Amino acid sequence: KNRSTSVAEMFWKTVKQFPNRLALVYKENRLTYGELGEKVNRVAVNLANRFGIKAGDRVALLLSNGLEFPICFFAIAQIGAISVPLNTRLTGYEIIHEVDNSKSKLLIMDGEFWPQMNEIMDYIPSIQSIFVLGEAPSCPGVLTFNTLLKPYDAEPVNLSVAETQACSILYTSGTTGTPKGAILTHRGLISTGMNFACTFQLQEDDSTLLAVPIFHITGMLQFLGSIYRGIPVFIMKTFKTAKAIDLIKQYKPTVLVGVPTMYWFILTSPEFAPDDFKQVRALLYGGAPAPVSLIKLLREKIPQAKIHNGYGLTEGHGLDTLLPDEYALRKPESIGLPVPLVDCKIIDENGNPKGPNQIGELAIRGPKVMMGYWENQKATTEAIVDGWLRTGDLAKMDDEGYVYILDRKKDMINRGGEKIYSIEVENVLYSFPKVLEATVFGVEDEKYGEQVKAAIVLKPGESTTEDELKEFCSAKLAKFKIPKYIEFMDQLPRNAGGKVLKQTLRNSHHIINH
Ligand code: ATP
Repeated sequence: KNRSTSVAEMFWKTVKQFPNRLALVYKENRLTYGELGEKVNRVAVNLANRFGIKAGDRVALLLSNGLEFPICFFAIAQIGAISVPLNTRLTGYEIIHEVDNSKSKLLIMDGEFWPQMNEIMDYIPSIQSIFVLGEAPSCPGVLTFNTLLKPYDAEPVNLSVAETQACSILYTSGTTGTPKGAILTHRGLISTGMNFACTFQLQEDDSTLLAVPIFHITGMLQFLGSIYRGIPVFIMKTFKTAKAIDLIKQYKPTVLVGVPTMYWFILTSPEFAPDDFKQVRALLYGGAPAPVSLIKLLREKIPQAKIHNGYGLTEGHGLDTLLPDEYALRKPESIGLPVPLVDCKIIDENGNPKGPNQIGELAIRGPKVMMGYWENQKATTEAIVDGWLRTGDLAKMDDEGYVYILDRKKDMINRGGEKIYSIEVENVLYSFPKVLEATVFGVEDEKYGEQVKAAIVLKPGESTTEDELKEFCSAKLAKFKIPKYIEFMDQLPRNAGGKVLKQTLRNSHHIINH
């Protein structure tokens, strides 16, 4: 059988084709595709035969970037079970919600998170066993991760899984409320991986640095696409600017993936030297709005690299639209065109389509749309209407079909009836040469309902005043869009995926002013 209908089949095709190629590198550990396949098989056999995991069962993963995540992910997929990757920054309370909502039977975790886990053991009754990487505490039901790697005298399990079946449940990171588990399918994940591999035209001599969280859709699509093409993935635990630059020097990856802030930090770092990036031939930026000044900087500092803006959301398996390199500076504010199998439209509140250049909510359709939210019919019916997934993003489409994100619906500022899209104001602030990072959000106001506030991080060694920034804005923005409040900060609060936590900033404004 030659069709890759399940994520595991896609994986095994690569293993069989390129057993001796380097697959994963993490610190001093390296695995070829053959070795990776061996480990995946062992975990799959142990999960199925020793620990009774059956097709459709959920297995939670609380794993940082490393070798174990991909090993477990493919092993779980291979036996038709469903992985539930948890964000490693979750609090105990949030872990309880996700494990309980998904009724996960097993949990595979990094030992470093044991303190949080220990406190909540009594509240996650669905968990039958926990496998801990590294030091395992001696507790009933707690085993070492190595237990899953033990040779087991049984035929490798490889269940035939339909492409439309669930492969993973990914809880959206919760910048909009209680996390909901997006049910992702085998075909949605394969399609996302293939889009990545095809857009970047991954070749035998390519390799990639995985610096985004592996438990997010962006990290998953990066390793899925790389594994689909059989290229090496160099994994870093968490993104740190100097370390990333170091690894790029050491491993010479040809393809990079990152959220806009990661590139800002790299390109403005004193350690950045264009020569160290000479081999980078393509890069993806996305996951959050990219300021135009960043795109210009990317072009200037890594001129040989093809640069692509990728827009996507967890509920659409990530990478739902792409802006080709040729358009990076021609339409720098655009997120591009929908990828194959994705259909886009801009709709009003009632779901009716809007015309070109009119602002409405972006909706997407096609096999890349999730199956729904796990055990949450209400949220599913609100999100998917007649097959169209409402993204929660305000957008417009130009005459050529290119899509522009203006703001998230919930972040749009309404100042006495005037609508202000935060991305427009952020772009202006980013064009001020002393600004390293800027974010704009609405804060309560008695008179206007909401007022514009900006939080700013300046480049190292720079100083400026509120007045100077407002003056700069006044040349580029209508008066009502100019931030009334400006707060200077050392860093912006962000979630693990690199998104600014605007709600945290709104709350702290509230506290300061009361
Ligand atoms: P939650 O859905 O709970 O708020 P989240 O925002 O972290 O969590 P994701 O699915 O990771 O969930 O994020 C998807 C959102 O990220 C999109 O809806 C959009 O607002 C934003 N986004 C992603 N890529 C881009 C991009 N290239 N340009 C602008 N915005 C983007």
